[in-house]
This record gives sequence, structure tokens and C-alpha cells, in this order.
Amino acid sequence: MDKYQLKINHLYSENLNIYGDLGNITALKYRSQVRGIKVEVVHTELNDEVIEEADIYFIGGGQDNDQMQVFRHLIRHRDFIKKEVEIGKVFVLICGGYQLFGKYFLDAEGNLIDGLHILDIETRAPGPEVKSRCIGNIIVEMSDDFVKYWNVDINFSRYIVGFENHGGQTKLRSTKMKPIGRVIVGFGNNYFDRLEGCYYKNIIGTYCHGPLLPKNPHLADAIISKALGISKIKHLPDDYESEAHKYILNRYKIKT
Ligand code: GLN
Repeated sequence: MDKYQLKINHLYSENLNIYGDLGNITALKYRSQVRGIKVEVVHTELNDEVIEEADIYFIGGGQDNDQMQVFRHLIRHRDFIKKEVEIGKVFVLICGGYQLFGKYFLDAEGNLIDGLHILDIETRAPGPEVKSRCIGNIIVEMSDDFVKYWNVDINFSRYIVGFENHGGQTKLRSTKMKPIGRVIVGFGNNYFDRLEGCYYKNIIGTYCHGPLLPKNPHLADAIISKALGISKIKHLPDDYESEAHKYILNRYKIKT
């Protein structure tokens, strides 16, 4: 596959990068390079004037304050991002990064963090009926639509495993915003509808930290393939990845 090359732009790694989010970049890089795909990783931080064009854009999660600062930078580049989304570039957005692509995030203090209005989703801190943040392991069964659109190899697993820690409760506001799947363990988008994440065009938004991709190589490969515009990718043995993935499934007695 050495005729292929991939450019990844890791946005705001200094502000939004918790619970091992950086591991997602490592996984994308490793899984590409081992197949002979050339990879370049660039970064965009708050003091950068431009967002460098790439095949995959990645944003991790973080604190509400950091989200606010990142938004001020991001909004200046909304037209560019919107154009990249429209032409089918791949975006992987975790937690705080995911929330920023929606309409708004209303935090626990009543501060409104505006969003890019690219995803038709909205996020609010929970009301007093919810006693704690959504924290812990999360297992999601991918929907058939998600598997088909992203061409995920379910021979590896039908599930995505991760770790979540968020206050924000996200609602998908239109039928164009499709969930990644059904929550089997944990919370996902919110504490009430048992759905997790959102995909729209080639954006994947998710609450799964952990980091997400090293433990879910089938999803990592789907992302790489989508970014390269290919439908088949060379198989990797994935013994360690499978062990890490199954460890969580076994813990909750879920069979692959
Ligand atoms: N600040 C957001 C929330 O608590 C995002 C947290 C995160 O990215 N883990 O909802």
C-alpha cells in the first residue's frame, strides 16, 4: 500500500487531550505505517493562524474552560471546516471536541459555550435529577447503518469499547444525525436514550475516550480506509488489540 499517504491534523492537543486521547493518533499512525502507508501528523494550536488541510482531523476532550478557548479559535475557521466536512474529509471528535461541533454546550454553571453548528446536536449539563457525571467503561453495539456506511469489519467485533467521563448530555436533533449505536454498558450521549455518538457525512463524534482506537482496531481501520477512499485494507493480526477489546467485553460478560 506504499502508494498511499495520509495526513492527520491533531487539533488543540495542548488544550483538549485527556484520558489517553493522543493514543488515537498513535494508533492511526501505527496501523497505517505498518501497511506501508506514509503518514504525516501536523498540529493546530490556539496561536496558529491557519488550520492546515489534512485527510483526517482529530479533536480530543477536555475541561469546559479549555473548550471555551478552543471555540474562540475554531469559530474563526468555521468556513474552512464546513468546506472540509462537505467534501467528505474525515473528522474524529471525542467528547468535548464532539460537543463543540454541535449547536451549543450549556455547562453546569449556566455558561453557554457556543458550537460550530455543523452537527445538529445540543448538549446541556444534567439537571438536579442526575446525581453524578457519566463516568466509567462504555460498550456500544454498532448499528447496522453505521457498520455499513463506515464499512467496519465486524468479524473482529460488533462492539466499540471505551471509557467515558462527561457531564454534558447530548441530544441528536435531526434524523440526519445518526447514532453510532446502542449503549450496552455505560451512558453514551446522555443518561436517558441509550444511544452513543453521532456520525454525519464523514464525521464521527463520540464520548469514548480510553483511548478509543487502540482498543477498537476495526474502527481505526474503517477511519483509515474512509480517509484513503479504499474499501479493502490489508489485515493485521491484532492479537494485543483483541485482548484489550475482549478484556472489557468479558468483564461485562458480553460475547463477541
Ligand atoms: N466538558 C465536557 C463535559 O463534561 C467534556 C468532558 C470531556 O471531554 N471528557 O461534558
